Amino acid sequence: MGDAEAFTREFLPLFRPVPPTRPGVCRICHSGPNNARDTGGPHATCASCKRTTQHLYGHTKEVVPISLTTTNEQLYDVLIREKDPRGAGGRRERADFLAATVSHFYQQHARCLQERAGGPFTLVATIPSNNLHAPAKPLHLMWKVVEKVGALGRLWQPLLLEADTTYAPVLADRRSHRNAFQIPRPDRVDKARVLLVDDLFVSGAHVQSAASALIETGAAAVVALVIARLINPASADPYSAGIWKQAREQLFCFDRCCICDRHDHSRRTSNR
Ligand SMILES: [Zn+2]
Ligand SMILES: [Zn+2]
Repeated sequence: MGDAEAFTREFLPLFRPVPPTRPGVCRICHSGPNNARDTGGPHATCASCKRTTQHLYGHTKEVVPISLTTTNEQLYDVLIREKDPRGAGGRRERADFLAATVSHFYQQHARCLQERAGGPFTLVATIPSNNLHAPAKPLHLMWKVVEKVGALGRLWQPLLLEADTTYAPVLADRRSHRNAFQIPRPDRVDKARVLLVDDLFVSGAHVQSAASALIETGAAAVVALVIARLINPASADPYSAGIWKQAREQLFCFDRCCICDRHDHSRRTSNR
């Protein structure tokens, strides 16, 4: 990947900052949790993460979105509607744009991600498409993206296979399953620190099913890096609306992520 910093500069308005974990922000995916009925305060995790981390062998507590998005944003169109993005310098190819995004973010925040994994990553994995209505594409988008990012492409391996169509309806229903993905070469995963890279985090069904398979196969750590976390600003939950309002008011910059923001916050708090 060439100059990811210069490439992403024209596209900064497409990104929305992701808040650090705090009361009212899900500690796994950085979306908005619902109110706990018993205390009236916010849950520590959102309803999606609560649902998709249950009944698995294991799950990742570390989901790091680069940006937030809603279904009305250009970033969503790029990720889901397969549109090429339009920036200050005109239209660019979506795989190049996504690779520059991942590359620039990883340049800035590799340490943040590695810290959550307990050391440098030894493997990079992407999630095969598990879509009820479309056959799995052999050259999945995120594989193409990761391959263009030197630091990650070197560590990428075809670790995960979609088990079979049995679990497609489960995942489509935004539920996770420990058998949704198979790992044909378990020896590659044993004791590995895996960076799981995916495009859009909606409920965590795919990411957490994949994380469960990796952990069950012996991975020492799984950290998920996702390009965007989908948020519903019209949700009845007041936290999601608040998070989106704040994300629209603040400028996005690649120098900060939802992890190093948290560090800055704890430093500020401990200096008081
Ligand atoms: Zn969550
Ligand atoms: Zn960071």
